[in-house]
Amino acid sequence: MTQVVRDIRMVDLKLQYQRLKVEIDAAMADVINSTQFIKGPQLKSFENNLAKYLQTKHVIGCANGTDSLQIAMMALDLQPGEEVITASFTYVATAEVIALLKLQPVLVEVNPDTFTIDPDAIEAAITPKTKAIVPVHLFGQCADMEAIMKIAARHNLYVIEDNAQAIGADYVFTNGEKKKSGTVGIVGSTSFFPSKNLGCYGDGGALNTNDDELAKKIRMIANHGQSVQYVHDEIGVNSRLDTLQAAVLDVKLKYLDDFAARRRSVADFYDESFKGLENVQTPVRANFSSHVFHQYTLLLKNGNRDEVRKKLEAQGIPSMVYYPIPLHQQKAYRDERYKDSSFPVTEQLCKQVLSLPIHTEFKSEDLEYIAAEFKSITNNQ
Ligand SMILES: *Cc1c(COP(=O)(O)O)cnc(C)c1O
Repeated sequence: MTQVVRDIRMVDLKLQYQRLKVEIDAAMADVINSTQFIKGPQLKSFENNLAKYLQTKHVIGCANGTDSLQIAMMALDLQPGEEVITASFTYVATAEVIALLKLQPVLVEVNPDTFTIDPDAIEAAITPKTKAIVPVHLFGQCADMEAIMKIAARHNLYVIEDNAQAIGADYVFTNGEKKKSGTVGIVGSTSFFPSKNLGCYGDGGALNTNDDELAKKIRMIANHGQSVQYVHDEIGVNSRLDTLQAAVLDVKLKYLDDFAARRRSVADFYDESFKGLENVQTPVRANFSSHVFHQYTLLLKNGNRDEVRKKLEAQGIPSMVYYPIPLHQQKAYRDERYKDSSFPVTEQLCKQVLSLPIHTEFKSEDLEYIAAEFKSITNNQ
């Protein structure tokens, strides 16, 4: 019997590169030949194309997704001590930049099905010091933006969308109107980290907004607060999307919807395969958002997540836990306002979530193998 050698990865950037190699190599060679590594024409082109794709007026590239959040908060002129509400179940970057700017992060609970910020919990956390809400569009689907925008309007708050994981998703309003994720609030921020749905070949990020003044200010802050060369109107940062990354992204943007479709078909296959498995909750798809499956994250409800992971690993199947420790229990973010048990949903998610491999390059026999192994492992627990 011949042994099948499988190379299953959480994300397969190698195969994706091989598929797009001719176009990407040519785009990168153009930049290298021009030597315009900073602010080359490919940056403008990508910013314009992404703005068109998102149906928004302005896109401003920057160095990474974390910076994009920080620049958004700086451009909105949030002041030390002011409160910014965000989800307790998220990647650390969201809370990190709030704290770094000496703003007060206010964590609130998430919805147990969609894992995104709970609008009722936001409303309950608002104080006279609250200035902004940062919903995180976790794992590839939008937070409940319509409810969030209503709360923000009632309390005069900014909404900054952390769209690092859901670029390309559609938010669907109750009247059927659709907007691209990240374009509902005053400003959207995103990341082009290589493994994100629209990933570059290094670090990258961007902000988007429909507000002309805010766009100007964002551009200025991202470039040392400079209005004209060597004239500095604001304290800024050095945060640029370099031309090589923009050139890669401009190629990959054309395939973003195709990437999402490929990811969705993996998710559909897993959903179908895992139907009826006891103690497994497959991802719940919100009716207010399409899902671009940055992650395929299910819940293992009988406390055996870590054993399942080990057994998958032994069969050559990687899996990940996003995220194992909630923010309020992290050493850097401990705060007397929170007890270890302040966010029961988040705490339970941290114990139960498991993300399976999902990317744009799957062969059906590898998917069938993963599904069969996962089913047999979870059935025999
Ligand atoms: C990836 C990510 C970020 C940060 O992006 P970087 O480009 O890695 O700085 C922020 N928020 C969320 C939710 C993310 O997933």
